[in-house]
Amino acid sequence: MNKINIEEIFGQNVFSLGVMKEYIESEKAYADVVEIIKHGGELNLETADIVADAMKRWAIERGATHYTHWFQPLTGYTAEKHDSFITHPDDDGKVILKFSGKELIKGEPDASSFPSGGLRATFEARGYTTWDITSPAFLKEDATGTILCIPTAFCSYKGEALDKKTPLLRSMEVLDKQTLRLLRLLGNTTSTKVTANVGAEQEYFLIDRDLYLNRYDLIYTGRTLFGAPAPKGQEMDDHYYGCIRERIGAFMKDINVELWKLGVTAKTQHNEVAPAQHELAPIYEVANIAVDHNHLVMETMKEVAERHNLTCLLHEKPFAHVNGSGKHNNWSICTDDGINLLDPGDTPNDNIQFLLFLSCIMKAVDEHADLLRQSASDVGNDYRLGADEAPPAIISIFLGEQLEDVVKQLVETGEAANCIEGGVLETGVSYLPDLEKDATDRNRTSPFAFTGNKFEFRMVGSQDSIGDPNVILNTIAAEAFAQAADVIEKSDDVAMAVHDIIKENMTKHQRIIFNGDGYSEDWIKEAKRRGLPNLPTMLDAVDTLTTDKSIALFEKFGIFTKAELESRKEVLYEKYAKTMNIEATCMVEMASKQIIPAVINYIGRLTDVVLATDKAGVNNRAIKEILYKSSDYLDRMQEALTKLQNNLEFAQAIADYKKRAFAYRDVVKVTMDELRVEADKLEMIVDKEDWPIPTYGDLLFEV
Ligand code: ADP
Ligand code: MG
Repeated sequence: MNKINIEEIFGQNVFSLGVMKEYIESEKAYADVVEIIKHGGELNLETADIVADAMKRWAIERGATHYTHWFQPLTGYTAEKHDSFITHPDDDGKVILKFSGKELIKGEPDASSFPSGGLRATFEARGYTTWDITSPAFLKEDATGTILCIPTAFCSYKGEALDKKTPLLRSMEVLDKQTLRLLRLLGNTTSTKVTANVGAEQEYFLIDRDLYLNRYDLIYTGRTLFGAPAPKGQEMDDHYYGCIRERIGAFMKDINVELWKLGVTAKTQHNEVAPAQHELAPIYEVANIAVDHNHLVMETMKEVAERHNLTCLLHEKPFAHVNGSGKHNNWSICTDDGINLLDPGDTPNDNIQFLLFLSCIMKAVDEHADLLRQSASDVGNDYRLGADEAPPAIISIFLGEQLEDVVKQLVETGEAANCIEGGVLETGVSYLPDLEKDATDRNRTSPFAFTGNKFEFRMVGSQDSIGDPNVILNTIAAEAFAQAADVIEKSDDVAMAVHDIIKENMTKHQRIIFNGDGYSEDWIKEAKRRGLPNLPTMLDAVDTLTTDKSIALFEKFGIFTKAELESRKEVLYEKYAKTMNIEATCMVEMASKQIIPAVINYIGRLTDVVLATDKAGVNNRAIKEILYKSSDYLDRMQEALTKLQNNLEFAQAIADYKKRAFAYRDVVKVTMDELRVEADKLEMIVDKEDWPIPTYGDLLFEV
């Protein structure tokens, strides 16, 4: 077995600051870059030329032939257009390789084919990509060769954001500014920058690629549109943390190496709850880099899976009857001198700074629960949220026993005199050490759980970008911090003002705290009683982007203009309708061209047997029963198919994009479910030899 030398391979393909220092001769140029990364500002063209040249030399030494501006359009995926380094050959015919500062900092993709939600008509095709200097360039190695990738933001000719990165960067700057403002008021003189840190745990499925290629639904939609449950699912709890099979292990080994090369800190790997489901978590890092890296994790997973003749499914619900996949977005706020503002310390009741930030976050999440929920919505996530396997669609905060008690004391008396301590866990075995217990247990059912020194936003879908959720978290937190700073600035007595804000925020917003079972029916009722928004599906949440409250929030902090918000809404409605159209069309095709013909074949064979046994005078009651049953189900399946075709035509004909999206949800999707029920019943009786597609048993257990 090859030995892996992590130290040697880690960051091998990253143009990190260390590499930059080595390749840039001018100390001033290097210092300029470092200054901009730390404190913002613009790179001048002269320095950009120096950096570009260094980048080019480094990349070419490693075999790179092309460079690309790598960006994150509203498709939710990444985009890249490669340009080789070559320019006109010289008189001797020798090719000249070039990469200028201008090419590094600005690209001009003809971007009219990316979703823009009406922000840009097709004749206004210009879009610009600009280098995000804070996220290091890297080399991507695949069948196309080695490509130098430059992480960029993507804007229209008029400067409107057309991507997921631009608003994220805007929100990070706002969070930095408002948090520092508040910290200064609290007497902090040492911190100079505040960042949101994010760690994204990624769940995924791996299935055999040959089987995958025999399922049009997986190919076109990423999820199974048909499929009866296998005899075994996840009921034995034997997959979670289970022993990792050889083939999966080989994949995990490879993906780690590829990610480490890219500077992604792949840290944790394990089997997840559903059969064939797994998880990978990196170590947290600054939000925009974490978002970039999460894209790299997803892309690399797909690629490495292929090398092992596997397919990686990132859809939120590839299989009915077993758990789907999510992405836990761990989020905290830290200063450049190492203070985690969400670290309560041992005695949170005494930690005024922590309590102030906590109370502001309670306020932010309560006031903008709708936006937070929206940020985690996705077509695929509708199959997960609220389905007893993922948090409900209702936003609440889990604080745990210790903090909940502190909040209660503060609300009731204005003081928190003490806090519950962890104590000791006794194992009952003489030679096992007694362990120090955390003061707080975990809660797996909460969408937004405090986990020690960070919040874990557990709602995000597995294939979704984590850009949107972090834009919302940063912005709503910044707003609450700004409001607190406004009050403190006007007060003569800082301590008193802080005390009052904590008490007021906690009192007004304690309804958002919920430590119980988020999966229970009672919680839905209780949440309603508390007046918390319940937006069960993606479409219910889209319009939250343009409420007066949201527009005011985003415009105040310069995250989105109203036009940008409107455009994003349109993109979401369109995305929903288009996705459902592909799913429904695929179902129609599989039903009419694969499943129904197979059932007809089977029925034909049964009929022959019935005729022959009738003739021979043999008892054929059982055969007839199977025949009648199959024929009945087929009748119903054909009926549902016709209905689906009609409903699909109805939805397709609706001109208004919002109404069309709702028609897909309320009319088309319902019929898709009806069609599936009949097909799945047939799967249970038709001869396996006749069944035209791999079954759940094949897909989930033959890896
Ligand atoms: P679990 O599944 O038990 O929640 P994991 O170890 O799988 O834990 O993932 C936790 C994630 O949270 C990791 O990505 C980790 O780096 C990240 N994380 C830890 N501390 C912080 C922090 N202060 N801020 C943001 N993310 C953090
Ligand atoms: Mg977790």
